[in-house]
Amino acid sequence: MKITEVRTIVTCPGRNYVVVKIMTDEGIYGVGEGTLNGSELAVAQAIDHASHLLLGRDPQRIEEIWQLLYHWSYWRSGPVYMAALAAIDIALWDIKGKIAGLPVYQLLGGRAREGVLCYGHANGRTIAELIESVQRFQSQGYKVIRVQMGPYGGPGILRHEPPLTPGTPPTAIFDPTPYLIETPRMFEQLRARLGMAVELCHDVHEQLTPQQAAWLAKRLEDYRLFFLEDPVRPEFKEGLRLVREASTTPLAMGELFTSRAECLPLFQNQWIDFIRITPIHVGGLTEARKICVLAEPYQVRTAFHGAADIGPIGQAAALHLQVIVPNFGVQEWTDFTQNALICEVFPTPAEFRDGYAQPPERPGIGVDINEEAARRYPYQRAFMPLVRLTDGSVHVY
Ligand code: MG
Repeated sequence: MKITEVRTIVTCPGRNYVVVKIMTDEGIYGVGEGTLNGSELAVAQAIDHASHLLLGRDPQRIEEIWQLLYHWSYWRSGPVYMAALAAIDIALWDIKGKIAGLPVYQLLGGRAREGVLCYGHANGRTIAELIESVQRFQSQGYKVIRVQMGPYGGPGILRHEPPLTPGTPPTAIFDPTPYLIETPRMFEQLRARLGMAVELCHDVHEQLTPQQAAWLAKRLEDYRLFFLEDPVRPEFKEGLRLVREASTTPLAMGELFTSRAECLPLFQNQWIDFIRITPIHVGGLTEARKICVLAEPYQVRTAFHGAADIGPIGQAAALHLQVIVPNFGVQEWTDFTQNALICEVFPTPAEFRDGYAQPPERPGIGVDINEEAARRYPYQRAFMPLVRLTDGSVHVY
């Protein structure tokens, strides 16, 4: 079997997704995803460039192709290249599953659990709204729920300033003090109303210094979080040491990591309890599985990133791995099955029921792309949010 064509598709059924479709001389094709929020066109270019190295190769030699592409780039790693490599890697697993007539999780060793426990995002401008939102998720079957108050950035976001030019994002003005004061109060009220049993997590979004994060983690101890996510900035992982030593609040990190090299010190130092990678940002299933193996002896469990910036193909790839790993924790969940635009472009997203998601049972990854529908929703320029402090300086968090 030989690779004959590599097609890159960028589509926007509500938000941008990057997909690769790898064709073979035997008619079987594979699809993979490499969406990188805000950098979609850069990933598409990287896939196009790498595609010249793929033509004529046997798509069944997944590990060899992964090593070739990783080392051929010379620069190794980096978010754009690892997302491109992920898209290709996942498409190759899709092909292998289709050849075998088996879903990818069967190729990885088979189920270790009946379903993949998921968490959803509850939000509210006030505590009453947030409690209502949590109860809505509970009524949908969720057993783990992320709780955030106010806009992205929480009560620390004082206001938004309009964009400088049309088509660019507004600027959020952030002050850590109200965020630090209000977050323990939020948990105090949630626990008073909801009790201690429901599993709650919270995302700091890397907005604090290590000292501020340690202060917060210590004050949240009594509210028994499932985890506190991204308490410090990802470039200086050593900041976790202070947070770890200050409290027993479980910590989660790794949403911005792109390789095992970034994850390993967090495991070895036992600074985290949950690793937040997702296959489409770390070079695909091949590398994500290795990261899970490295985490296991340190009792670090998986909590894969799965917000709406991960599309249905990336989501399904994550489920195939999450259902087989022994050190599974939880999966962040976006329900695409009720989104008509998404279902038109990506037949058929993975199913969720009573708190658990299932990897598709179809051969391969089990989610396809309808290229004709994808063309009807072309790429739309999009940016990540900008954040400044109250004195106007860029928030270097
Ligand atoms: Mg996050």
